[in-house]
Amino acid sequence: MTTPSQEKKFPKGMVPLEKKPFKFSCHSEVSCFTKCCRNVDMPLYPYDIIIMKQKLEMRSDDFLSKHVNVVRGANPFFPTLMMKMNQVNACPFLGPSGCAIYDSRPSACRMYPLERAVDRSPDKGRPDEFFFLTNHDYCMGHKEEQEWTVKDWLRDQGLALHNSHADRWAEMDTFFSTNPWDGEGVAGPRQQAAFLACYNMDGFRDYIETKNIFATFKIPATRLRSIQNNDEALLSFGYDWVKMIIGGMPTLKMRKKK
Ligand code: SF4
Ligand code: SF4
Repeated sequence: MTTPSQEKKFPKGMVPLEKKPFKFSCHSEVSCFTKCCRNVDMPLYPYDIIIMKQKLEMRSDDFLSKHVNVVRGANPFFPTLMMKMNQVNACPFLGPSGCAIYDSRPSACRMYPLERAVDRSPDKGRPDEFFFLTNHDYCMGHKEEQEWTVKDWLRDQGLALHNSHADRWAEMDTFFSTNPWDGEGVAGPRQQAAFLACYNMDGFRDYIETKNIFATFKIPATRLRSIQNNDEALLSFGYDWVKMIIGGMPTLKMRKKK
């Protein structure tokens, strides 16, 4: 029987780890400690913004203006977010003894030294995920003796929830890559509404209230309560709302007009 990675072709030099163990350890005694938190391009995803702004007890719009650069990334039809480095080109959350938001650090910081790829071929039912070992010359963690399997690393770094959010975000990114702005171009009102729904939970909450958005949809009471009280549930509603109002997809039920 072949495994999914034996069926799939990867770029030259990239070999999925599967169950093979790898050696790595990152701790305050390594000579490179916190080197990777400087001069780094750090992409941020919607769930990263939620956990970081909650940790810092900030509104998401304040977090975005203070800590995020909005840039044009691989998808020309929707902006990418990158962490804004400080004046000395270090992550703003780097403290004297390491990461000051460690339990709420973003996905990219947790995943290293692994990289994750997901095969969402439509003929496959469930997507297959693959993990690769990456290595930066300056990172001494690879010389440590501690051994991991991918499964143990994902558990240790609390990545299950991050990865499930990453998968939902990847669906949205694919949706945006179809240029769904209907002649408005990028940065038009529809894209701005989608930006709120994906990246700015507190701004989206205000928008929902001002526009009385919940009055338009039939939302079960338990889901409505969690959307009102929980940023993750609001993000999930935001994705459904964007797909419906911009893509015309049947992701939410409309209330009947009286
Ligand atoms: S460079 Fe590697 S070992 Fe050093 S702090 Fe960063 S992840 Fe840890
Ligand atoms: S969030 Fe923490 S771990 Fe990630 S780059 Fe910043 S200081 Fe380093």
